[in-house]
Amino acid sequence: MNIHEYQAKDILRANGIPVPPGEVATTADQAVAVAEQFGGTVVVKAQVHSGGRGKAGGVKLAATTAEVREHAENILGMTISGLTVEKILVTPAEDIDTEAYVGVLIDRKSQAATFMVSAEGGIDIEEVAHTNPDAIRKLTVDPRYGLMNHQAYWLANSLYENAGLAKQTAKIIRQLYAAFTSSGASMIEINPLITTKSGEVKAIDAKMSIDDSELFRHPELVEYRDLSAEPAAETKAREADLSYVKLDGNVGCCVNGAGLAMATMDLVKYYGGEPANFLDIGGSSNPEKVVSALEIITSDPNVKVILFNIFGGITRGDDVARGIVEATKRIDIKPPIVIRLTGTNEKEGLEILAEAGFTAFSSMDEVVEQAVKIVNAG
Ligand code: GDP
Ligand code: MN
Repeated sequence: MNIHEYQAKDILRANGIPVPPGEVATTADQAVAVAEQFGGTVVVKAQVHSGGRGKAGGVKLAATTAEVREHAENILGMTISGLTVEKILVTPAEDIDTEAYVGVLIDRKSQAATFMVSAEGGIDIEEVAHTNPDAIRKLTVDPRYGLMNHQAYWLANSLYENAGLAKQTAKIIRQLYAAFTSSGASMIEINPLITTKSGEVKAIDAKMSIDDSELFRHPELVEYRDLSAEPAAETKAREADLSYVKLDGNVGCCVNGAGLAMATMDLVKYYGGEPANFLDIGGSSNPEKVVSALEIITSDPNVKVILFNIFGGITRGDDVARGIVEATKRIDIKPPIVIRLTGTNEKEGLEILAEAGFTAFSSMDEVVEQAVKIVNAG
């Protein structure tokens, strides 16, 4: 779950990290009122789950009330990376001396929290990693010991030679680690971490993702979810209790069990196709879930064929078959559906499908090959 900058900043503040104050506005009038309350120059910032807002025109300095109004009106309603800006953050402008990058994320390779810091902040870290990888210092935290003080200093010292700045930064890095572990985050990025001319270190931007599987431990964070900011299909999948990940291909996959779903995707690739999604309908086989699954798959305009791969265990073949038939009655499904259905109540399931005019395969290879053949044919 991605959260907005203003929400991430609340979490950073709660962990002691120096972050300038700020208030969210949804209208230009509100933005002006907030700016007047702060006084002086402010920054008007689009709140969308996307980086690069500055480049897209979603971050603007405003020295006067008229400028605040102008920028607020322009930014509200703007589209950045396909997302509509509905909220803006108004925050006092900082007098920036330098901009650094400080991030921590769960690194898949080391399976542990890994810090990345760079004195080349403000810009995309991917760009720095590409053009000047030596400008990034990395540290993987051993979860048995946590982040040690000397490690925080080792990171901070790569950013600043000045001892005062390095000391403040080492503290911020420790606070960042605390924020990361205590909120179940999978990623927090401060870009930029700035120094001011007066020698202070502050976080003026924050990007953060909470691991969805951690949310049950953090009910207070669930309300941070912004449904308008995430794809409708993912919201629907979560509500229907389906594991769904959208991908870029055109073979819509509907499978029971995460392992079989992965194997199915591999096989789609093996036969020269590209999966449009990962979708696990889970162990139970409530026909309603199958209907929801088909609604989600068909909401993706790229899908050219729908591939069912059901190996019934707890999942009953007749329930899945009923779900497929029910869905075809309720929704107008354009792409052809190919089905493999074996296991528990296979016979009953195949009968239901046959009555509705479907033929099912019993081999996984055959059905996947058939699905890929259909998309490649046209
Ligand atoms: P992003 O583009 O989505 O990463 O948004 P940021 O919040 O990082 O802002 C982009 C850039 O705008 C920063 O790197 C700064 O250069 C500039 N900026 C943001 N806030 C301030 C501020 O308070 N004062 C000044 N002078 N520049 C700012
Ligand atoms: Mn930024």
